[in-house]
Amino acid sequence: MSNRPQSDYESPVKAGFFIYFMAFFAAVSAFTVLANLAMGLPFYLNYKWIAITGTALGLALWARHANNVSRIHRLGVYLTAFAIFPVAWMSSAGLVSPAITYAVLVIVMINYLLTGLERTLINMLYIALVLVLISVFHFYPGRFTTLTPTEQYLDWVVNVPLVLGFLAVMLARFERAYESERRENALKAEELRQLSVTDPLTGLGNRLGLHRELARAVALYQRRGDVFSLIFLDVDHFKAYNDHYGHAQGDDCLRQVADCIRAGLRRMAVDQAYRFGGEEFVILLPDTDMQGAARVGERIRAEFHSAAISHAASTGVGFITVSMGVADVAALRATGEAVIAAADTALYQAKADGRDRVVCAPPAEQPQRGKEWKTTPGRAAAGGA
Ligand code: GH3
Ligand code: MG
Ligand code: MG
Repeated sequence: MSNRPQSDYESPVKAGFFIYFMAFFAAVSAFTVLANLAMGLPFYLNYKWIAITGTALGLALWARHANNVSRIHRLGVYLTAFAIFPVAWMSSAGLVSPAITYAVLVIVMINYLLTGLERTLINMLYIALVLVLISVFHFYPGRFTTLTPTEQYLDWVVNVPLVLGFLAVMLARFERAYESERRENALKAEELRQLSVTDPLTGLGNRLGLHRELARAVALYQRRGDVFSLIFLDVDHFKAYNDHYGHAQGDDCLRQVADCIRAGLRRMAVDQAYRFGGEEFVILLPDTDMQGAARVGERIRAEFHSAAISHAASTGVGFITVSMGVADVAALRATGEAVIAAADTALYQAKADGRDRVVCAPPAEQPQRGKEWKTTPGRAAAGGA
């Protein structure tokens, strides 16, 4: 975990927000200078507007290029709220000037850019400042610049659409930016979730994915009695394959094994295969009893026979074959781990019986004696599935 305080985190949306606000303040002050010049007012009246233009522009540029923007945001908020805003208001016609609309922009800035206790404090201080300015105008109206009624009218007519238009554009813009950031984050989270349950070599599910789905299947069985079956599959003589062809080709072979398994599964998005580890795979078959699972096993076995991935070092048929153990939850009335263990035991039986076959675990009610294992033998059973 990062030890950076949370308020220091600045999203790109926030960074953009600050820059747009500062650019807007700079543009409005620059516009005021031009308007003053056009009206032929004495030039010294422009000094403060020039200073405001420079400050706001400087802050915007600084924030654009700095690393730690939260400090600049804070400086910008303080300067705007407690220096630029009161000076601008004092130099307009007080309560009869649209300066109050700028107070709305500043409060939006405070609440968007600051967080926690600082936000609460600055909100209170700022609202108090606005009240003080209103009171000063009431008791000492002469402290504010006086404007003729026509100048006041022009002041309102220019500034109100500027401020409200800017706010409307900003709200629309940032709502969109937030929405796209939210969607991007959701996509990334889904991508990560998918990666965390995917085996990178074969693209099948991994062991974590299997344990999650198995827990789900067991819960559905316990709640609604939905049966499921599980096939434990192991590649025959794979150590010999690796020793003969090398590890890289071994990996390539595992990808082809995964393709054969996929090809044997018909219920897309329901039946799922997982790489359990090494050259061992587990296939989870919801809504499938032992007979159905054995049929799927035979179909997968047939896929290996037709793919016939050569295995020169095999003591058997000369191509890659697989052995499978099948167990179902209904017969065992057991936990997910017990179903895996039962399928694994059946797999060992398949290996012992000569490999390249599917063996079903005996139902739990029956005594688990060797002769009661139901075996579908090698090549002979491939077509009889
Ligand atoms: P059996 O028919 O009894 O299953 O024999 P086997 O040789 O397949 O069984 P064993 O479990 O002894 O061998 C598994 C071998 O699989 C060991 C290793 O060489 C290979 N292996 C395990 N994981 C990987 C992997 O990720 N990539 C590659 N290339 N080989 C692997
Ligand atoms: Mg193995
Ligand atoms: Mg093996």
